[in-house]
Amino acid sequence: MNQAYKECNKHFPKSISQEIKDYVTETVLRDSRYIFIRRVARVQYGYCTHCNNRFRTTGDLKHNNSTECPHCRSKCKIKNHGMSRKYLSDHGFVVYYEKSKINPDSAIIAQAFRVYRNYSGDYTKVETKYVAVARYLFESDNPGRATMYEWWGGWKEAQSVHSLWAQSSCSNSRCSIDSIKEAIQGTPFQYSTWDQHEQPQPDYIKFFALYSKYPVVEILTKVGFKYFVSAKLFDQKTYSCINWRAKQFHEVLRLSKQDLNLVLKGMKGLNPMQLRLFQMSRKDSAPPTLQEIKSFFTKSVGDVLNELNVVLKYSSLRKAMNYMGKQIRNCETYRTCSGLLIAWRDYIRDCETLELDLAHDLILYPKNLHEEHQRTMSLVKTKIDEIARMKMIKRAEALQKYAFEDQRFIIRPPGNADEIIKEGKTLNHCVARYADDHARGKTTILFIRLKDKPECPYYTMEIKKNEITQTRGFKNSAMTDEVKRFVQKFKSHKLTEKRKEAVAK
Ligand SMILES: [Zn+2]
Repeated sequence: MNQAYKECNKHFPKSISQEIKDYVTETVLRDSRYIFIRRVARVQYGYCTHCNNRFRTTGDLKHNNSTECPHCRSKCKIKNHGMSRKYLSDHGFVVYYEKSKINPDSAIIAQAFRVYRNYSGDYTKVETKYVAVARYLFESDNPGRATMYEWWGGWKEAQSVHSLWAQSSCSNSRCSIDSIKEAIQGTPFQYSTWDQHEQPQPDYIKFFALYSKYPVVEILTKVGFKYFVSAKLFDQKTYSCINWRAKQFHEVLRLSKQDLNLVLKGMKGLNPMQLRLFQMSRKDSAPPTLQEIKSFFTKSVGDVLNELNVVLKYSSLRKAMNYMGKQIRNCETYRTCSGLLIAWRDYIRDCETLELDLAHDLILYPKNLHEEHQRTMSLVKTKIDEIARMKMIKRAEALQKYAFEDQRFIIRPPGNADEIIKEGKTLNHCVARYADDHARGKTTILFIRLKDKPECPYYTMEIKKNEITQTRGFKNSAMTDEVKRFVQKFKSHKLTEKRKEAVAK
């Protein structure tokens, strides 16, 4: 057992408490109660597996029906004594909270067990079996933390604290809510607002793990920012609105004290994106008010923060809002704020590609965004084509080292992309698919031609890492013996030599 686990283990009781056992019996395995019936000299007797009483039945109990035990009043399923019980067993999964044994005022623990009862043997001696699968420790001391150990034939610390509820794939999964209430009583966890956060996996493991690490969960929930806590719990967007580690509340919301007050007053209907925009614009010279942000970026605008982030690299939020308002009023193309923003973002990216100076208002805020965007789009396309063309030419120059010939054949690199495409068309194979990789240097395409027909595609070769990976002719045909011999010559002249050099280095 390692030292860290030993420390953690001190918080846990040495044995399974009576409370857990009672909870399992009364709740998790509540339906695991049977009356086994048998006849002795025409008299029917029953045996209750819950209270272990044997009794004479009043009537005729039937196999697989249900009845109430006359002693303990449990609802029980009836089973024939003589029936095969090979597969009769019941299973459950339980999460149970308790106070820490050593820090009962500041730490709580939780244990997860698989539990089962197996009735295949003597049904008067069936015991509940407990298989511990996870141990959790939640500490609220400064700094708080959450730890989880999982059972893998030995206790191993888990990378992240997580619930096993979904994995348990057991229809009888239960977490004792009463055990939570009792465990947190008198600890800081009782103020954690745990009961305000519905859990899809109702064992609250994720919640207490979050709270242990970030006690601001409590104040965020209480002040009305429950959204962010839920979002954090369920991996939804929090827009970086929250500084989870901050101590002071205004720092948690990344605001000055005055701005925090404005937000608290304008909380009603405030959504996370609006809050984020308010936070981001505070350092601008004439920032919009919270009210202006709320009425401009209404719910119907949707989530446009990604697009806005590109715009806000160059523009203040106030100016961006003014510009968008004008474009929507004056331009036929954009009816919605989000449609306009997507076009504006794309336009800005075009300007970046074309190295236009976005510090100029005339460029950043074009009078007619739609027209200007059409123009930059075609410029960008030309530029990209040009870049590809230049790349191909450079490649062709660099690959001249592979040029080779004998009396009958020549081998040379393609001069441009069109040549590769033509090669594929003429020879009816798929080399054209490699054109892009070739231009980017990921692979190398070479043409083999007959010396007396140098313009006519004949065989195509691919080289990767100084090795020939394939040589294909018409319709992917393999090399003739003659071509093979030429390729062998090429290889010993151009490829093996290189390798020797590489080894020599
Ligand atoms: Zn009973």
